Amino acid sequence: MSTGARIWESEPRRAVADVCNRLYERSYLVATSGNVSVRRGEGFLITPASTRKDAVGPDSIIECRADGTPLDPEKRPSSEVAMHREVYRARPDVNAAIHAHPHYCLACSLAEISLTEMLLPELAIYIGPVPLVPYATPGTDEMCVKLAPFIEKHNAFLLKRHGVLVLGKDLQDAYNRLEHLEHIANVAYLVSSMGTIEPLTKTELRKLTSQARKLGQHISQTLLELLE
Ligand SMILES: [Zn+2]
Repeated sequence: MSTGARIWESEPRRAVADVCNRLYERSYLVATSGNVSVRRGEGFLITPASTRKDAVGPDSIIECRADGTPLDPEKRPSSEVAMHREVYRARPDVNAAIHAHPHYCLACSLAEISLTEMLLPELAIYIGPVPLVPYATPGTDEMCVKLAPFIEKHNAFLLKRHGVLVLGKDLQDAYNRLEHLEHIANVAYLVSSMGTIEPLTKTELRKLTSQARKLGQHISQTLLELLE
């Protein structure tokens, strides 16, 4: 597997496969769960159905049209292909999507511990508020229906009893957000056993977003609206 910066410089099929291997190594998913995609032309590349993520290689990655059908009719894309199709349809600014089942995000989704409060600067700067999407049967169009009210304004989503969906301007951006989100969910869990969690105040958030803008960081539209 590629390490460090090299993973992001690989050709797209290799990069998707390497991210799958990395997700598996970090226990962000197990066995055949999870799926990864990147935009390609009018359509997108996506991981195959029922394939272990430690065994995914560049040749396994499937190219789909904008409507989610595979170019090669013999190939079977991820069962969550409709969710990825909806992401690219609704979000022209998004070029990569990762769906995984990391432990702490999944636990937060079950416990309904909100990640909409800005607990840490990383959440405010890199992701913005993360809504909890109501439960839907995995692999069905119901998932798209439940996601629809949230998809345009957020960069990451806790999927109840299921996991997390994280979007990015590219694969590295999506993966960075996933790492930050799982770290924040882990911290939220630890703090929940200690007492009340105090989020960053609006004053601190305004200072933070102003500083982040100076550094050229894109700030979540939802967060900016909260600060108006
Ligand atoms: Zn899943």
